[in-house]
Amino acid sequence: MTDIKPIYLQKVKQQNMALILQKIWEHETLSRVELVELTGLTSGTITNLTQELIQLRLIRESETSSGTVGRKRIMLKYLQDRYLIVGLDIGRTSYEVVLTDLTGRILKSVEGNIVGIHDPEKVLDLITPHLETMKAYAAGKGSPIIGLGTSIPGPMDKKIGNLLKPPNFPGWEGYPIQSALEARFGLKTCIEDDARASALAERWYGLGRKVQDLLFVTMGMGIGGGVIMKGEIVVGSNGLYGQVGHITLVPNGAVCACGNEGCWETVGSIPGILRRWGGGETIDDFFQAVNQGDVKAAECLKETLYYLESALTTLFNTYDPEVIVLGGRLYPYLTMHMDEIRSRVKARIYAFAQDRVHIESATFGASQNAVGAAALVFGELLAKPLQMLPNYLPQETP
Ligand SMILES: [Zn+2]
Repeated sequence: MTDIKPIYLQKVKQQNMALILQKIWEHETLSRVELVELTGLTSGTITNLTQELIQLRLIRESETSSGTVGRKRIMLKYLQDRYLIVGLDIGRTSYEVVLTDLTGRILKSVEGNIVGIHDPEKVLDLITPHLETMKAYAAGKGSPIIGLGTSIPGPMDKKIGNLLKPPNFPGWEGYPIQSALEARFGLKTCIEDDARASALAERWYGLGRKVQDLLFVTMGMGIGGGVIMKGEIVVGSNGLYGQVGHITLVPNGAVCACGNEGCWETVGSIPGILRRWGGGETIDDFFQAVNQGDVKAAECLKETLYYLESALTTLFNTYDPEVIVLGGRLYPYLTMHMDEIRSRVKARIYAFAQDRVHIESATFGASQNAVGAAALVFGELLAKPLQMLPNYLPQETP
């Protein structure tokens, strides 16, 4: 009996802290009085918990004069660089490691090529020195790293931290990525599917401060999606929610790696475009041919844009998001066509909703996945501050 109460109280305390942190994140700066109003907690609880969060050095006080004659107000905001986060993106052909502060600002970043390396241990060997450099840099600043977020091609079993069988990712099937990284670097490690990590970059550090329902679509070697609804990532009952690359666009089309036929990915991804064009090896070759007036390439681009427009229309009708955010390796080649795509999508959906169609570019460009990996840890920090900062808690007074 006696053991249950403290655990329960600790849980309630963490939930209340999470609520306070969430509200401060939403509003950027809040007074204690505003926190009482926004959270429904008592002013005593707000006083105690904000004091602890200040001792944890997650938030700090700052003085602002409000509108009325010289009245000073004490505001609370994040202490943005007391704690740092490492974001790691492992892709099919490259990796990126970033060190960020709590606002997603990149302090250090490094990228590397892993084309042709199909052994996870070898890939981690390449990443290790960079991670050690970042740990040393953080130690030099006196800012602890609170966690390592990892973005990697899915699907994965997040309960045990293993990859399942990601398509076109030989050597990684069943790999225990989470425990392998934890053992190597001694950091609390979170893992997420790359498209969902990208969505989380927007949710915490990009458009998500203003938008609660967003859909992230990444277009590259594959086409993936991540759905944020009411501020939460949605995974579905089999982890397949938002697998937008596998909606059927071509009846009786080519068989896809997922088993379906005529998926958007089979025609709209980089390999899909190159296969339909048949005139070169790389996506650079393709767009060069378009620019040089190659008729077949131009026709193939027109078709690609039509697939994109059709898929986006379907996504608006299916998910009804406030915004669809586009990114991935293919996207920079398509940005010049986005005005046309936007107006075509608007023309194809219900008239009353046309003004609400928002299609935006990914906030972090080529670093979207790595920043998203860091955002994954930030989200955990906001939800479970006591669990994420066990070594930095102030000493309990008996
Ligand atoms: Zn498919």
